[in-house]
Amino acid sequence: MDKALVVLSGGQDSTTCLYWAIDRFGADAVDSVTFDYGQRHRVELECAKAVAAFAGVGNTCLPIDTFAALGGDALTDSDIDVESGTDTETGLPNTFVPGRNLIFLTYAAAYAYQRKIDHLVTGVAQTDYSGYPDCREATISALQQSLRLGMESDVTIHTPLMHLSKRETVLLARDLGALPAMALTHTCYNGARPPCGNCAACELRARGFAEAGVDDPLVVAQ
Ligand code: ZN
Repeated sequence: MDKALVVLSGGQDSTTCLYWAIDRFGADAVDSVTFDYGQRHRVELECAKAVAAFAGVGNTCLPIDTFAALGGDALTDSDIDVESGTDTETGLPNTFVPGRNLIFLTYAAAYAYQRKIDHLVTGVAQTDYSGYPDCREATISALQQSLRLGMESDVTIHTPLMHLSKRETVLLARDLGALPAMALTHTCYNGARPPCGNCAACELRARGFAEAGVDDPLVVAQ
């Protein structure tokens, strides 16, 4: 039986990917991991756990405290205001955590290797990638090759959202029956529940639902 491991952050995209994996592999063959990387918004970890339980799949939280020790990004460093926007030197949003997806997928691959899971699923997308270079297809493809070589494994990294717009991601979630789980997700960069509605993450999410003509269950639930 082919088994899949979903990197579940507790957000909209990874939740959609969880349902994509369940649709493709079957719930009994799907597991999930969530990374505690010292994110300021601890609610993400609770959301991931709740989404996995709701979907009927396992969820393991793995600790990585190095990113918080490095600092310098708005998601782990409370001295940086998420509203301060873009780093003028790099042109990247201050919410960019350098290396995060590379490390997450490497740890996920190690977890999968030990459990004989060949398929990793991640919600990265280059369409709306906010300038995050580790969400690009070329990055993921190169990483997959590195993991195959470095672990002597047949691991495949699936990126079902890679070329979808936010609107298309919402429609996919709807078609996969993932909308009820969306009420349990978390997207807001300010860590607010109900969502603040003003940060870049809230605006992107709201625009996707609006363009898809679908009510966001998270907003409706408040
Ligand atoms: Zn927000």
